[in-house]
Formats: sequence, C-alpha cells, structure tokens
Amino acid sequence: NLLQGRVLSVHGLQSKVLGDNGVLYACAVRQVLKSLSTSQRNVIVAGDRVWFRSESRDGVSLKSEADGMIERVEPRTGMISRTSRGRQHVLVSNIDAMLIIASAEQPGIKPALIDRMILTAHQCQIEPIVIINKVDLIDLVDLQPLIGVYSSLGYRVLPTSAETGQNVDYLRALLKNRQTALAGQSGVGKSSLLNAVQPGLGLAIGAVSSDNDKGKHTTTASQLIPLADGGAVFDTPGIRQFQLWDISASEVAGLMPDLRPYVSGCRYPDCLHLAEDDCAVKNAVADARIDARRYDAYCHLLEEELM
Ligand code: GDP
Ligand code: ZN
Repeated sequence: NLLQGRVLSVHGLQSKVLGDNGVLYACAVRQVLKSLSTSQRNVIVAGDRVWFRSESRDGVSLKSEADGMIERVEPRTGMISRTSRGRQHVLVSNIDAMLIIASAEQPGIKPALIDRMILTAHQCQIEPIVIINKVDLIDLVDLQPLIGVYSSLGYRVLPTSAETGQNVDYLRALLKNRQTALAGQSGVGKSSLLNAVQPGLGLAIGAVSSDNDKGKHTTTASQLIPLADGGAVFDTPGIRQFQLWDISASEVAGLMPDLRPYVSGCRYPDCLHLAEDDCAVKNAVADARIDARRYDAYCHLLEEELM
C-alpha cells in the first residue's frame, strides 16, 4: 500500500512530498535507500518521483517527525546538476524544459548570460525556452535581431510583459503539463511572471538590485510550484544564480548546434577555434555558413571560461 508522489523540496533529512492524491506529506527517507546511493550527493532531490508509505491518517500526523517514509525513488530523467569536487550534485530532477528568463530593460539583456544558460540546458539534454520579459519598457523592433538569431537556431523565444500581460497566456500554455526549471538573474521578473501565469500564487516581488546577486545568501533548497493547469515550475536558487557549470572551454563549440557540425573538421583535435590554423569553424564563419554573431557569442563564452 505504497503511495506515489513528487518531491517538492528537501530540507536536510526531510522532504516535502505532494502525493498524487493531492495531500502534502513530510517524509523521511528509509535508511537503506541512503546507503544504496553513496555515489550521488543527494538521495532525494526536488522533482523526484517517489513511492512512500503514509504514516498519517486523514492528513493528521501520527508521529511528530514525519508523515511518511520514502521507500523508493523512480529513475531520474532531465537532471540539472553540477559537479563539485568530483561528485555530482543534482539540483532538480525530471525536468522537461529550462525557462531562461531575461529582461529587455532593468536589467538589460546580457546575451552571453542567455547563451551560457542555453549551453547548460543542452548539456543537461533539456529544451531551452528563452523569455524576454519587460517588453513594455522598450520598442519591440529593437529585439528583432536577437529573436531572429535564436529562432533561426530552433529555440523558442517569447517576448513577455508581466506588467501588461503580453504573451502571458502563451507562456501559461508552454508550461502546461510539463516540469519546467526557472533560470535567470535577479530582477528580470521571474516571480512577477509566475504570479501573472497563476493568479493567486502571491510570490514576493523584489526590487531590482544593482549588484547582481553577488554576496547574497544562497541556499540550494528548491521550490516546486504546482500549476493549476497541470505541470509544475521549479525555482531553484542555485539555478537562479547562474554560472557556466562544468563546461570546459573545449566543450563549448560542441554544445552550440550551429557550430557542432564543423568541430570535427579542424586540423587539431583540441582546437578552440580561436587562433589555430586550418580551423573548420573559422572557415565556416568566413564564408557565412556560421552566422558571425554566433561566432562572436562563442568567443564571448570562451573568454569568460578562460578567465
Ligand atoms: P525576480 O527577481 O526575477 O523574481 O523579479 P521580480 O518578479 O521580483 O521583479 C523585479 C522587478 O521588476 C519588480 O519591481 C517588478 O515589478 C518589475 N517587473 C517584473 N516584470 C515586469 C514587466 O514585465 N514590466 C515592468 N515594467 N516591470 C516588471
Ligand atoms: Zn577549430
């Protein structure tokens, strides 16, 4: 008589689990599960599908420390993880798409940051979706070149405004029935957009901070926000404060779909496509088989990575 559910968040040894029956449980983890997974830093992570034994009756806890006991974890797909000291640290699991949110103004668009997030989505084999919020503050025509480049690569790009409600219905439809991770720097309007997508959600709206989140207290606790239409959004502080995790300079070109076909044609197998001779990537840029703006973006990413 095990129940099934999804892990909303993990705090130390306790997990908050939303049962498929709609009841919220505080669950501990069976000791035997912990010893099984010594190679992975996290036994249970937000997003996990779990089987658990209820230890409550009618939603009322029988024990003070737990309402349930997790007995089994389903195999994970779509993990967002980072490696630290040789160990994989999973932030969230079972993610279908990464919602990469930037804003047109306050703060302005940082294409290199968007590119980093797209690369990480590729590395995790998750679909990236790019949202440009606060378009009420600009002339949409100014965004066309950027939207054009990403669209031509097959990425979905959606201009939105939480303020005027522009494309909020479309965003709601994109989120429906999937597990989506939220990424994007502080102040771009992630909370405002979610509040617009789901009236009554009531996430706190912050002011735009000038110092880029640095120095702010960070935690790795994830939040899963179930959506009324089905599906859920994962808001993970570690993904909000985005870095180019785990991706080395030599991997960057291979994670860009328009550069990838050329990398095997370079003379040197470890070619970084910068100053090397006989570089198939640079040759493709020279005769416009690769968009020069994309090669520029590549060089930006590499500069950051090599610094
Ligand atoms: P978060 O840190 O990414 O969650 O951003 P918030 O949702 O807290 O929003 C940061 C600030 O941007 C707040 O002052 C919001 O009122 C403002 N904001 C959010 N979305 C929009 C928008 O579409 N247009 C305008 N003009 N302001 C917005
Ligand atoms: Zn090369």
